[in-house]
Amino acid sequence: MMLIFWTIVIITFFIISLRVNSCNCKPKENYAICNKCGESIEEEYNYCPSCKTQIKKQCDNCGMKISTNWRHCPYCDN
Ligand SMILES: [Zn+2]
Ligand SMILES: [Zn+2]
Repeated sequence: MMLIFWTIVIITFFIISLRVNSCNCKPKENYAICNKCGESIEEEYNYCPSCKTQIKKQCDNCGMKISTNWRHCPYCDN
């Protein structure tokens, strides 16, 4: 009987740990945060869908989309 009891305990802990691991508390890596309203935005977006703040701008030199916070383009070292 003790074996069955411990098996249930181990399975229960296993299920709990799985639920903890699948917790989506942290924002996804390919998500940016709007500086103005704090909304999480997909990296592809140029404007925040919540407050219309511009998030991305185009590099004058290479045309890549870069964050408005960045002074220098990371793609072409402009
Ligand atoms: Zn916003
Ligand atoms: Zn560039």
